[in-house]
Amino acid sequence: MSLIKVAVCGSCGRMGQEVVKAVVMDKELELVAKIDLICIGEGTFDSIEKALKATPIDVLVDFTQPAAIFENAKYCLNHGIRPIIGTTGLSEIQIDELRNLSAKNNVPCLIAPNFTTGAVLMMMFAKQAAKFFDNAEIIELHHNQKKDAPSGTAIKTAQLMAEENESFAKGNCEEVELIEGSRGGKSYSDIQIHSVRMPGYIASQEVIFGAAGQVLKIRHDSMDRTCYMKGVLMAIKHVMENDEFVYGLENIL
Ligand code: NAP
Repeated sequence: MSLIKVAVCGSCGRMGQEVVKAVVMDKELELVAKIDLICIGEGTFDSIEKALKATPIDVLVDFTQPAAIFENAKYCLNHGIRPIIGTTGLSEIQIDELRNLSAKNNVPCLIAPNFTTGAVLMMMFAKQAAKFFDNAEIIELHHNQKKDAPSGTAIKTAQLMAEENESFAKGNCEEVELIEGSRGGKSYSDIQIHSVRMPGYIASQEVIFGAAGQVLKIRHDSMDRTCYMKGVLMAIKHVMENDEFVYGLENIL
């Protein structure tokens, strides 16, 4: 059986370094290229185009930054490379465009705002609980080098919950914010999302549901970045075996 040729984009970043280690350790995969804007040289290229000139690539795993991801993904889909996108910050319009491009070019693609199995379960449980509560808010906590807010996981959680209920602020009184932003950002179905940025955290999220006389909290904490790797490896193998566009790890669990 031939090995799956994997390139890692953002290979010098916090997530990219973990992906490189995980790919090297997996016997079914071959790391063919590292791509980053810093630490170029010794098998690291500064663009996907240059990497592709040097080696065939089956799958590209991208953990770069919101500003880069859309063009990176389009380049892959137009050149027969299956993109696995971990970078968060894509808009709904961009995701739709990538879905269409993936179908048009018949190149599979997988986008996951969170590759941690526990975090995906947290989202699924939040969707289940949403059927039974009319009030809910989300607090997400990340390290202070995260460039986008709120997190892709928080947005995805709110989207899933909103499928079950049209408002999660039922019965709230009229509010005045004495300090702007105190109540967080209003997302789908009036779900307020609060983003905390703090050194020490990797990624945590708490979904709080309230009703008369009771509060339910669903919380997940990522303790270190190895927690994402099981999902990333699963995604690489999935796009080699399935010709489809996937948004969300829960669809392949
Ligand atoms: P990071 O440490 O800043 O790493 C990003 C790396 O990508 C940096 O080395 C950066 O170089 C490089 N880069 C930026 N633009 C590039 C481009 N156009 N081509 C190639 N390389 C480029 O960030 P991180 O903590 O690893 O996180 C990366 C992304 O993954 C963020 O969007 C984060 O929210 C997301 N994330 C997703 C998950 C998930 O499960 N889906 C989990 C954790 C993080 P420079 O420093 O020179 O810009």
